[in-house]
Amino acid sequence: YMDRADQQDTLKVVGQLAAGIAHEIRNPMTSLKGFVQLLEADLRDSQKMYFEVIHSELNRLEKTMTEFLMLAKPKNSLLQKINMTKVLEETVHIMQPQALLHGIELCFTASDHENWTFGDANRLKQVFINLIKNAIEATTGRGRIEISIHQKTKELIASVRDNGCGIPKEKLDKLNEPFYTTKENGTGLGLPVSMKIIEEHRGSVEVITRENEGTQFNISLPLIS
Ligand code: ADP
Ligand code: MG
Repeated sequence: YMDRADQQDTLKVVGQLAAGIAHEIRNPMTSLKGFVQLLEADLRDSQKMYFEVIHSELNRLEKTMTEFLMLAKPKNSLLQKINMTKVLEETVHIMQPQALLHGIELCFTASDHENWTFGDANRLKQVFINLIKNAIEATTGRGRIEISIHQKTKELIASVRDNGCGIPKEKLDKLNEPFYTTKENGTGLGLPVSMKIIEEHRGSVEVITRENEGTQFNISLPLIS
């Protein structure tokens, strides 16, 4: 069992490790990718399937390293006055093709055109990319994902809601645990990274979920005028 403080310690250690080894792993990986591509050029059909595996494993490694680096990055260096309505709009735009590919409808509603907070737009985008990705991956068939933003006194609440598989109550504690994943190709880093970024912005995360019905993540951030 890990309490909140233990989890933060784990994240810190993971972050430091990541910073140290990231480049050691990334550089050889880049050269591997290059040489694999060269080899593949003059290959017999019967061997092609091996290369599919090599490619997908290399991509997976790259994904893990990228998410590792997000954990490793120092706290916000660049806090600016940003309009979260616009940040969400852009994120939805980025994720639209991926949703379409899965036959999922992505919709965005904003109560206001302007919802200002102090933040790092790129890192906040990363949070919503992670949440929307998870929503897509949790949804099969007639999927619908709703992204919305509204104001509540001194906060803005940005939500991602899906009608996917839901999360069993007993697993909720695990969401902030690095490497917890139920997916064959998951890294289990998406939510820990996201929660770290939200904490850096003095925000909070709420999860409302029901098995087989869906999940809603509510991200609250300080509102400024
Ligand atoms: P990954 O996506 O690589 O598995 P995450 O940290 O993003 O890692 O998510 C951890 C786990 O939380 C997922 O494997 C999944 O079981 C669960 N989860 C996250 N978001 C959702 C969601 N919207 N619906 C259902 N389960 C979810
Ligand atoms: Mg994920």
